[in-house]
Amino acid sequence: MNKNNSYNCFVCSADFKKIVERKDKYTYYKCEKCALVTIFPQPEDKIISEYYDGFLFKKPEDNEISSRKKIIDKDVDLIAKDIKNIKKENNLSLLDFGGGTGFYANSFYQHGYKVTLLDLDKQTCKYVKSKFPEINVICTNPMLNAINKKFDIIFCNQVIEHYKDSDKLLNTLHSLLNDNGLLIITTPNQQCREYWFRPTWVWDYIKLTSDNFLQRIKNTFKLLSDSWLCCDPPRHIYAFNKKNLSKLHKRNKLEVISVFTEYVTTQNYSLKQHRDFSFKRIQSVLKIIFNIYANLGISLLKFLDRKNNWGNNLVIFSSKEVKK
Ligand SMILES: [Zn+2]
Repeated sequence: MNKNNSYNCFVCSADFKKIVERKDKYTYYKCEKCALVTIFPQPEDKIISEYYDGFLFKKPEDNEISSRKKIIDKDVDLIAKDIKNIKKENNLSLLDFGGGTGFYANSFYQHGYKVTLLDLDKQTCKYVKSKFPEINVICTNPMLNAINKKFDIIFCNQVIEHYKDSDKLLNTLHSLLNDNGLLIITTPNQQCREYWFRPTWVWDYIKLTSDNFLQRIKNTFKLLSDSWLCCDPPRHIYAFNKKNLSKLHKRNKLEVISVFTEYVTTQNYSLKQHRDFSFKRIQSVLKIIFNIYANLGISLLKFLDRKNNWGNNLVIFSSKEVKK
């Protein structure tokens, strides 16, 4: 907190303005200049490490494994094509940073990359070693322990928003890249406008702010003008947008190659949602109606979004600047 009793944005130093309080101890803030969204107080390290102790590890059921593999293989086909447009060599080394249960890492391996997965969760690492023995696994906290290896490509999928110190994370990623190495970061997009068509998602965030009906209505209007969707402590500390994330990359000597957003119904860098139209029981009717609404609405939004700012998932490609 600064001397004016407000907080400063760590990306651009402008003041944060308060958006809304939650029922717990956290309050949402948004930077007046770069629109970074975060919470104060920031969760203590102890709370964060307790939260991650085995918590992230959601082991897929045996009957889900083959369908998940299939979906991710298809997505990685497209990601590998995007990589090939930038890095044409074969046999490249790839680090899946914070790679979780290893499905993306396995798929990259099938696409001919020499793959290493890094995760800090011991249970997760054990699972990957047993399921995908061909993947090299590093089980450590990369912010505390140095890793004496470098890679041609780093895939860092839905990770950066979890870290309190984004500069330190980008600096670490920079140090793990070979010269001209490629970094791919994905994260939820703060500028996302899909909330008009995903009411259950909005509800997940509104119910955390109040128990009072009128207050909840008021907060819904606040969310439509100053969205704090995706900022979800102690899990997600920040919600970034194209501009502030690019700025962070540049100041950590990562040259931005491209930055774009993807929509949740058609995205390839994270799992698609609202695509299930199967009828299993009577409650499925409601799900199908919601999913039709989401798909139609998001198609319209996509059509109107001429600058590609409003998708749910933000993807940024950058390369390690080499001193000349
Ligand atoms: Zn800012």
